[in-house]
Amino acid sequence: MAKRQVYADNNATTQVDEQVIAEMIPYLREFYGNPSSMHYFGGQVEKKLTEARERVASMLNAEPTEIIFTSCGTESDNMAIHSALMSAPEKRHIVTTKVEHPAVLNYCKQLSKRGYGVTFLSVDRQGMLDMNEVRDSIHDDTAVVSIMHANNETGVIFPIAEIGRIAKEKGAFFHTDAVQTAGKVPIDLQKLDMVDMLALSGHKFHAPKGIGILYIRRGTKFRPLLIGGHQERGRRPGTENTASIVAIGKAAELAALSLNDEQTRVKAMRDRLEKELLARIPDALVNGHPMQRTPNTLNISFQYVEGEAILLMLSEAGIAASSGSACTSGSLEPSHVLRAMGVPFTAAHGSVRFSLSRYNTEEDIDYIIEQLPPVITRLREISPFGADKETPH
Ligand SMILES: *Cc1c(COP(=O)(O)O)cnc(C)c1O
Repeated sequence: MAKRQVYADNNATTQVDEQVIAEMIPYLREFYGNPSSMHYFGGQVEKKLTEARERVASMLNAEPTEIIFTSCGTESDNMAIHSALMSAPEKRHIVTTKVEHPAVLNYCKQLSKRGYGVTFLSVDRQGMLDMNEVRDSIHDDTAVVSIMHANNETGVIFPIAEIGRIAKEKGAFFHTDAVQTAGKVPIDLQKLDMVDMLALSGHKFHAPKGIGILYIRRGTKFRPLLIGGHQERGRRPGTENTASIVAIGKAAELAALSLNDEQTRVKAMRDRLEKELLARIPDALVNGHPMQRTPNTLNISFQYVEGEAILLMLSEAGIAASSGSACTSGSLEPSHVLRAMGVPFTAAHGSVRFSLSRYNTEEDIDYIIEQLPPVITRLREISPFGADKETPH
């Protein structure tokens, strides 16, 4: 058994907060009514859903009527893009980036097979967009611009206010996948008044899996993806996932309360981890913009070793991290995000993502700093791509 367990894979999913569990359990056990029912069983649940909607709206500085509960971040992203295309049927063009989560990227690839024109914007070596390219890519035929707030693999934050402003100038809908920023970076939708739609996912901020949010600004044309009953004002039919909605409401309240902790204590831990690993391990480099990054994420490459091998050895030591995104690992191709950034082959293969949360401690960081350097040394000794050997391709 490992001496210690360190969970540093919070961009993949997070631990559900005990307070969230405590608040949702009664909505599985006692308050199991259908919120649409006339009787008191429904009424008490309906009231709690209203509170959850208010809590989510409050986290985003939005109005409760602008919040739709969905089944996950993926559904929210799909819904937003689908709605924009159906609301502007004469337009046949979409702008997105090469580094989106598969929930946007693969949906857009699918749309391009169905005859839509899709521009996949490139990023530079630090993972940032060229704003002139953004501007040039959007034209009269562009129905929707869908660009993420922060990247799940590198933490790189895009300037969504500026991008959204350009999209609005050109008459396109602007959607942003903000799954990786909830609870880490402030999101104020009064200030971000160029954002039409925004997606969140509960399990990325200490609520359970299987609950998502789509924010839709008041007055925005909307066409639903699912057709059915009147739930969510017809915008997302299906009997409400009541316990999980209660949970995401509580998680939103807690996220707002812990935002400061994420931006100070969690960021300081991430920065110390980064500094110490760079100091102790030669031929290591950080992927992503040094400043424009979520406070919890460190994507770091160790040349001449395989990320998968590092992860397995870390796992044996009780440390849970990730190489690239969980959705793309399992294939031997280096991550699409690092490839788009032009990270050299020998570095992209040896990349590891550490993503922290408010549950991590300084002792966790000490433990990673102690365990990782000898792992890299051992792997380099047996690596066929060793530093003194020829680079493949
Ligand atoms: C996790 C994630 C999603 C998908 O959310 P699910 O709830 O797992 O469907 C979408 N976008 C980003 C950036 C993510 O990190």
